[in-house]
Amino acid sequence: MKTTLMAAVAAAAFITAGCSSKTGTEIVWLCDKVAGQPLALFPDADSALTESLGLMDAVPSSMSAFLVRKDGKLLMFDTGYGHPDGGVRLGLDSSGISPMDIDYLYITHFHGDHIGGMLDEAGNPVYTNAAVYASQAEYDAWMNMPPERNSQAVKTMDAYRGRLHLFAPGDTLPCGVIAVDAAGHTPGHTAYQVDDILVWGDIIHGLALQFEHPEICAVYDMDKQASIAARKRMIRYAEDNGLLVAGMHLPSGFLDFREAGQVAE
Ligand SMILES: [Zn+2]
Repeated sequence: MKTTLMAAVAAAAFITAGCSSKTGTEIVWLCDKVAGQPLALFPDADSALTESLGLMDAVPSSMSAFLVRKDGKLLMFDTGYGHPDGGVRLGLDSSGISPMDIDYLYITHFHGDHIGGMLDEAGNPVYTNAAVYASQAEYDAWMNMPPERNSQAVKTMDAYRGRLHLFAPGDTLPCGVIAVDAAGHTPGHTAYQVDDILVWGDIIHGLALQFEHPEICAVYDMDKQASIAARKRMIRYAEDNGLLVAGMHLPSGFLDFREAGQVAE
């Protein structure tokens, strides 16, 4: 089964802010901001390719987090940059949810556009009651980086000490969330599967470019070869299993590979 990008996006166009899985799990897109990724961030994409795709200066993208309701619990996946006027906090507000209501916070990786929202301007935890889940490999890698690279990660993880839970790929976490190895973008980059939803983090930064050309990396991908392998693996996994993908840099939040999005070849 091979899904065309057009089919997957066309199906996703029916999804606005949120949708439900077959099992009744609800997911809400919390778009921190809509922002194009400049083509300069994809140095391996030559101009003939980008021109053939109709891409001029940037690839449509977003910075996003996701809220999931399952089993009477509230789950967050990443937290956005943390700007007070960012869409993550506005999205929670408009859903009538306070950060203190979040039960579980799952972190895909430690880049600032994913963990920035964990602390307020005074450096205090925003998600005051959440148990936080992150990959042991991600934690170890960042804690061993030089201070000029890891100060935000160190400060943030310190602030959640005591309720920070580190896991290995394949572990089953609260509410049946499964940690899926997606390392490459960062050393412990993790996707999470919840029922038929796959929150895949930063597998793709520029959908219009990388879906058909997963061999192209964004400069943010720390290990290029592992990133390419993870991108190919995750796209295939979502297609083969008919999943609804939620991506932190997808331009409309979702890619739908469930029945409506699938075309046989
Ligand atoms: Zn990111």
